[in-house]
Amino acid sequence: MKLYSTHRLSPEVNFREAIFQGLPPDNGLYMPSEIPALPQTFWDNVENLSFNEIAIAVSEALLGGDIPETDLETLIHSALDFEAPAVRLEEDLYCLELFHGPSMAFKDFGARFMAAAMSYFLRQSGQTLNILVATSGDTGGAVAQGFYRVPGISVTILYPKGKVSAIQEMQLTTLGENIQALEVEGTFDDCQALVKQAFLDEELRSGYHLASANSINIARLIPQAFYYISAYAQLKKLGKEIVFSVPSGNFGNLTAGVLAMRMGMPVRRFVAATNVNNVVPEFLRTGVYTPISPSVSTISNAMDVGNPSNFPRLNDLLGNQMKEYLKGYFYTDAQTREGVLEIYRKYNYVACPHTAIAYLGLEDYRKETGAEVTGVFLSTAHFGKFLPEMEAILGFTPEIPERLLLKGEKKTTVVDTSYAAFKAYLKRNLI
Ligand SMILES: *Cc1c(COP(=O)(O)O)cnc(C)c1O
Repeated sequence: MKLYSTHRLSPEVNFREAIFQGLPPDNGLYMPSEIPALPQTFWDNVENLSFNEIAIAVSEALLGGDIPETDLETLIHSALDFEAPAVRLEEDLYCLELFHGPSMAFKDFGARFMAAAMSYFLRQSGQTLNILVATSGDTGGAVAQGFYRVPGISVTILYPKGKVSAIQEMQLTTLGENIQALEVEGTFDDCQALVKQAFLDEELRSGYHLASANSINIARLIPQAFYYISAYAQLKKLGKEIVFSVPSGNFGNLTAGVLAMRMGMPVRRFVAATNVNNVVPEFLRTGVYTPISPSVSTISNAMDVGNPSNFPRLNDLLGNQMKEYLKGYFYTDAQTREGVLEIYRKYNYVACPHTAIAYLGLEDYRKETGAEVTGVFLSTAHFGKFLPEMEAILGFTPEIPERLLLKGEKKTTVVDTSYAAFKAYLKRNLI
């Protein structure tokens, strides 16, 4: 696969270069130069394929030139050993549960695939790697779980002290081994600034192999296309067009759906559902793209993004067809709480606030258009990750799975926001 930069000022690279570079030198985003359509025989037979068979077909079409077929199969089987069921709530209403991975959020698909792909390339070259990542919560958990015990990779995660949820903190800090958590006495922006400075530091760059694991890495986008096609496969027999409603922040998830469509997946539309950080719904309504700065805090905080980082990719994939394929809706916290309650009352189903926003978007789309479609709303996280909020909304404590009752000891190193101290820590700990 060849990849270009959305700014078009950097040379094309192959997948291996893109995954370790993360960002192109011109600060654009890497995108596949060509998006292959899957053959008609694939779509005719897709309902008979397992999730991993679908994942293998999609990644072979994209990455066949970069990783040999048998290696790609091994990689997929090791990275993606969890399901993405489309759960029926009523006729033509399905919830696509993307929270069956190790951190119980959809970011597991991207993080696990990226970790497996990096590890594959490192084994070939005999190199080691240090991942540095700043997190405001969910990304860190998925990255920690995704890279845990991956040979040859050491991970340093920075998070703002006291500003992530209890469960998120447990997911970051209890694994140990190759996962180090740094508790920064500052904000998420301070964490990000420290990581950024480390990547620009000549001494660190020349002494160590460093890479980032943030959500703009192309290796996190590709595996997210798998579950759209898997959902299509599960629902194809219903014989209706499908609308996917995607709860969105940085819009990586929705972009992956459009990628699946460009590879030939039949779909009527995507609903871009957001909280009051409504840059994209407003863009779809007015044609004007106005970032929100600073972003507004909400109860669907994994979507508190005022300038979605994947927008340039979406733009390149859809261009002036954006309005044809996307429909935008946004919701306040009060509406989100109502959405959680409505899903519970109508379907006896507990959904997290992000998921509720996707549900509301789908229902509004149906009301507005009267479209006779199979509606699928994406559930991006298990509600158990947002327990205090869920209790406040529902008025009782929903039962949460054993897996979220993480045990183990919190292990962190507390640092202040000074770069000198952070760098000294890195020099002691990088591999
Ligand atoms: C990250 C995240 C989102 C937003 O996904 P994007 O790909 O950034 O649009 C939505 N819900 C949850 C639970 C998340 O963790």
